[in-house]
Amino acid sequence: MKYHSPDSFHAAAEISANAPGSTRFLAGGTDVLVQLRSDIFTPDNLIDIKNIEGAKAINRSANGDWNIGAAVSGAEMNENEELKSEWPGIVEAVDLIGSTQIQGRATLVGNLCNGSPAADTVPALIAADASVAVQSPNGERIMKVADVPRSPGKTNFQKGDVVKNVIVPAKKNKSSDAYLRFIPRTEMDIAVVGCGVWLQLSADGFIVSARISLGAVAPTVFKVDSAADILIGKQLDDDTLHKLAATASAACNPITDRRGTVEYRTHIAGVLAERTAKIAYQRAGV
Ligand SMILES: Cc1cc2nc3c(=O)[nH]c(=O)nc-3n(C[C@H](O)[C@H](O)[C@H](O)COP(=O)(O)OP(=O)(O)OC[C@H]3O[C@@H](n4cnc5c(N)ncnc54)[C@H](O)[C@@H]3O)c2cc1C
Repeated sequence: MKYHSPDSFHAAAEISANAPGSTRFLAGGTDVLVQLRSDIFTPDNLIDIKNIEGAKAINRSANGDWNIGAAVSGAEMNENEELKSEWPGIVEAVDLIGSTQIQGRATLVGNLCNGSPAADTVPALIAADASVAVQSPNGERIMKVADVPRSPGKTNFQKGDVVKNVIVPAKKNKSSDAYLRFIPRTEMDIAVVGCGVWLQLSADGFIVSARISLGAVAPTVFKVDSAADILIGKQLDDDTLHKLAATASAACNPITDRRGTVEYRTHIAGVLAERTAKIAYQRAGV
């Protein structure tokens, strides 16, 4: 295995495109190094992105959008009070990853690019309508996070693509987000279901815009437009919440494994959609 430490994302993309054999990028390493040490997968090339200028930065564009560098850890996000107050759902999702030690290394981009259907931050990012800036040897493009997952462990990135940063839109007036997951233990476990919700309200508390995303109940994290549509023009009365839960459950296509059966995951997805929407609604109204 060859270790590379490029000083630009363009150089990282060139190495990934041209180096012989397999490649992995090293962000926090909490997936890559575990796979390597457990002999699950050893890449021919390990491309460390942490020394690239800007990779560890959280800043804002002129239009207020957030740019979160590919090597920014969950702990660093959690220390950014402005980010936390604008996007509490994204930060609570990253804050659920592993333990304090893991959060000191784990990144949003690694969580997305590892391709797990149960990745905690991906439903929150999709609900936020986040994008990623992707560098390839031929240039840079912007891709919606929702378009990244392809199948368990796979993404729609091409060889030579490297993510520079996550772009989270500036917070809109009377909007907020939330993320909840259910795990069989109290911590350090993988989601049976994860749910991200973003809502925007009118001045009198009616929902004017909504996005909902579910994790761990299909081969990829996915956006549930049918469930979001239920909420438009409504306040969160009991009837709306029941319809939301039924629609979220109906969208699921999970597997049975040791953490839960198809029936259990499907039911929990509805329960979590209801609970997460209530939190986002309350936050958006503040
Ligand atoms: C003990 C433990 C507990 C965990 N708990 C959770 C949990 O509760 N919830 C959860 O969702 N996950 C959990 N994880 C998994 C892991 O911590 C997360 O997926 C984490 O966010 C990965 O980020 P990273 O920066 O460490 O990624 P890395 O390991 O550095 O990389 C992961 C993948 O992303 C790719 N990648 C990295 N950077 C880029 C880039 N810039 N461009 C393109 N591809 C890139 C790599 O090639 C690799 O395939 C846990 C892991 C451990 C070891």
